[in-house]
Amino acid sequence: MELDGAVVLPGIVDAHTHLVSLGESLSQVDLQDAADLAELQARLAAFADANPDAERLMGRSWLFSTLEGRAPHRSMIDAVISDRPAYLIANDHHSAWVNSAALAELGVVDATPDPIGGTIERDASGAATGMLMENASLGLMRDVLDSLVSDADREASLSAAFESYLAVGVTAAVDMGLGEPELRALLALQKRDGRLPMRVAGHWVVNRTSSSAGDLAGVARAVSLASTLRGPWLRITGIKIFVDGVIDSCTAAMRHPFADGSHPDALWDLASLSAVVTAADAAGLQVAMHAIGDAASALALDALEAAVAANGPRDDRRHRLEHLETVDAATPARLARLGVVASLQPVHCDPAIQENWRAMLGDDRVERGYPWGEFADAGATIALGTDAPTAPYQPLPNLYIAATRQSALVPGLPANIPRNAMPIADAVRRATRDAAYASRWDGELGVLRPGAAADFFVLDADPFVDGPEVLLSAGVRMTVLAGEVVHSAEAVSA
Ligand SMILES: [Zn+2]
Repeated sequence: MELDGAVVLPGIVDAHTHLVSLGESLSQVDLQDAADLAELQARLAAFADANPDAERLMGRSWLFSTLEGRAPHRSMIDAVISDRPAYLIANDHHSAWVNSAALAELGVVDATPDPIGGTIERDASGAATGMLMENASLGLMRDVLDSLVSDADREASLSAAFESYLAVGVTAAVDMGLGEPELRALLALQKRDGRLPMRVAGHWVVNRTSSSAGDLAGVARAVSLASTLRGPWLRITGIKIFVDGVIDSCTAAMRHPFADGSHPDALWDLASLSAVVTAADAAGLQVAMHAIGDAASALALDALEAAVAANGPRDDRRHRLEHLETVDAATPARLARLGVVASLQPVHCDPAIQENWRAMLGDDRVERGYPWGEFADAGATIALGTDAPTAPYQPLPNLYIAATRQSALVPGLPANIPRNAMPIADAVRRATRDAAYASRWDGELGVLRPGAAADFFVLDADPFVDGPEVLLSAGVRMTVLAGEVVHSAEAVSA
């Protein structure tokens, strides 16, 4: 096949994504770049007008900074949508802002107790405001919404996510949020077609329950799935644990309080976390832990050390920490020593979405935000992903931010701590070969060589010669998966 000297790269492996949610997000109203509350409300009203038959409306990616210091309240949504439930998922995906009809649909009243690990925010009079934090949105709200979405809806969402990924050169993805509904959708598509449209590895979410036996039941389910799902298209490789929340809504576990004085604990204590991590490690599963606050990643590493002490030395455990937005000075070296993969999402560090992040920390901690250079200097393996749909799923802007720490959303903004940018060749390697390594796909995926899977894509620009800036306007001419053209932007002379 004549490609006229075009750049060919191994298929991108998105090391951290959420496939069904990504597909769903493609039909939700995008609020990320709404300038202020009035524009956000106008978009919701227009979306409601355009979708008169939708039983409920979903918005996504709104930023706290859009409200210019005002606290989100259900009345602000009620003002434009009161006839049906409206759920607005925050950009950080760890909280949701809903209207009064949605609270009613969820069965949340002022007296409803907070779920474990979550908060139903209330005003001074005790009335629910419509803000659902952490497990109130990730657990309670998601459970209700999951029960309202049909399996056919989820399968359609999954198909939409696959199609979107293949068109931008992504040929494999690691789903970091698998539960029963997502797994049903993956299995249904695989059964229907005998394969999936791209390669998927999954981590089974183990949420903390009210008992150690309950926590370990989650691990047992993952062990049984991992033993049966080991095919070339779908594999369950490990578990996913949320150790803390996020900085944007002040739910991350930090050594020192947030600027507003809040200082939440991690979602697990060391004993409960170590029990789960040790059980998964003993079964040979990979443990991926969401850890954004400096105290969260230290706690996660403590739990991994406890697992090593309990289960004995073993090569190649390949556990992973996700996000690592703030860390103790000692954390990078601990990651390297334990062989733990640093799973990073450059898109989260886009300068255009840092205002609230920086304000919530409010001190010199922001000067060590997203310290990728420290992980690299310590010798830790870095894998890149997008965490879609908390951020755009397209890999080229992600690689641009990795290589420049500049904004793909608002080009021209000052770089976000540019000393932590990585050379473009390292960024590409970490989004392909090292992302494959992070899910035990090494040797097969993420490399171009005889014997490896023929997964690759053709770029219409050359970032190695012309610089990472060309990634902002570059296109994917063709994507090839298992030797088959699965996406083509133009006729290619063969
Ligand atoms: Zn995620």
